[in-house]
Amino acid sequence: MATIFTKIIKGDIPSYKVAENENFYAFLDINPNAKGHTLVVPKKEVDKIFDLDENTYKELMLFARRVAMAIEKSVPCNRVGISVIGLEVPHVHVHLIPLNKMEEATFTSKVELSPEVFEATAQKISSNFR
Ligand code: AMP
Repeated sequence: MATIFTKIIKGDIPSYKVAENENFYAFLDINPNAKGHTLVVPKKEVDKIFDLDENTYKELMLFARRVAMAIEKSVPCNRVGISVIGLEVPHVHVHLIPLNKMEEATFTSKVELSPEVFEATAQKISSNFR
């Protein structure tokens, strides 16, 4: 059965899209640690990141780097952190999190954002994506 992220990539489930190319899709995390928290996903459905073939792994990291640069231009933050967990969704994804304090990296404190803020944030990151 398709993962929830495959359904998002196919457009069967809505998402706040940030960037996309042939092989990767980036969108805002719906339960963010901080405003601008983004997930970067390979379209290929693989559960664990270290099971990716070497080329997809490298390309994922390069794509995530470009998304992180766009986040840094769009959301006031000290830096963008990167994390890979995958305990909830068995489809490789990289968390990119704008960080100002350590709690934002811990997945224990969450922020609530309105649909309007999600939309505006996604659009801003998207406009800075190169
Ligand atoms: P983990 O698998 O532990 O890395 O966590 C999965 C992440 O996916 C969590 O941060 C969720 O908030 C996020 N997530 C789950 N469903 C959605 C969705 N439909 N749209 C955006 N983010 C989601």
